[in-house]
Amino acid sequence: MNIDFANLQKHYLLYKEEIDTAVHAVMEKCNFIMGEEVIQLEEELANYAGVKHAITCSSGTDALQLSLMAIDIAPGDEVITTPFTFIATAEMIAHLGAIPVFVDIDEATYTIDPTKIEAAITPKTKAIIPVSLYGQCADMDAINAVAEKYHLIVIEDGAQSFGATYKGKKSCGLSEIGCTSFFPAKPLGCFGDGGAVFTDNDRLAEKIRSLRVHGQSKRYHHRYIGIGGRLDTIQAAVLLVKLRHYECDLSMRQTVAHHYDTVLSSKYPIPFIAPEYTSAYAQYSIRVQNRDVVQEKLKSAGIPTAVHYPMPLHLQECFTYLGYRVGDFPVCERVSKEIMSLPMNPFLSNEEIAYISHKVIECLG
Ligand SMILES: *Cc1c(COP(=O)(O)O)cnc(C)c1O
Repeated sequence: MNIDFANLQKHYLLYKEEIDTAVHAVMEKCNFIMGEEVIQLEEELANYAGVKHAITCSSGTDALQLSLMAIDIAPGDEVITTPFTFIATAEMIAHLGAIPVFVDIDEATYTIDPTKIEAAITPKTKAIIPVSLYGQCADMDAINAVAEKYHLIVIEDGAQSFGATYKGKKSCGLSEIGCTSFFPAKPLGCFGDGGAVFTDNDRLAEKIRSLRVHGQSKRYHHRYIGIGGRLDTIQAAVLLVKLRHYECDLSMRQTVAHHYDTVLSSKYPIPFIAPEYTSAYAQYSIRVQNRDVVQEKLKSAGIPTAVHYPMPLHLQECFTYLGYRVGDFPVCERVSKEIMSLPMNPFLSNEEIAYISHKVIECLG
């Protein structure tokens, strides 16, 4: 058997007619920049996430950057986040001259441990960026409560969790600002780079819209120093089609995850999804000893795997100047040595899931 990790091709073929029609319409109209599809997508994204404003942009990374710029993060400010995430989360903090301050993760969910946040707060702290890792939100109520006490802004990095729920509310609508990514392999992916920022705050929404187009207030008048961060109309057209089918895609992902759970759980600790949470299952990740060996064995059985993420951010070369050391975040360091993602996409058949699971159990036994 030869398993496809993300199966993007199957996804395209499933909605091919609708997507081709939508993309062709943009090409006919040549409204490539900020076309009506972008405006419509923003309305539908906001409705979907249950927030007042969705501002699309050129990537999840830019969504984070725009959010931090909108709340005036400046050199010397501190922003608390998790060391167990994709680099972009901390990178955008550092990019603005601010200081990423890491806090260890919870061993069950792999998201930032809210009980450890307070100890990391200083007079310079301005914001907290929890990451909804693998598709599951962090404990946002607990994080919002700490933030409120110290007048901090919470930006959810929901790049992996669009569509996930937390106590009945949707990811990206759980704090002052939410960010997501439409990178092709994310649960809601476009055909290139894309992202969005979500907020209920009218003032922040207006500022983010302006920052996205070079800080423009009206054409060629620039109120802020911004970025060129728009989403292409063609990507918006693709996303409008995919969003229409997204609930179905999500439930297919969840069904795949539950099948994995059923086969693996008798032998193995399966991903822990907290009660009152649902995951968008950007990844289905389990912990293994001797990961290199297991990955190699699975590879020779036609099963691709991946590691999200092999090196914690506090130990990355680019962050040497922050002065962290091995041992600073023991949970994150332990998990990063053991974590391994199995193929995850809406189209894995029961037969494929059974095959993968049994091979995994074989490797571990
Ligand atoms: C993918 C990802 C990003 C960056 O999104 P891009 O669209 O690739 O720029 C940021 N944070 C997390 C947690 C991600 O998984």
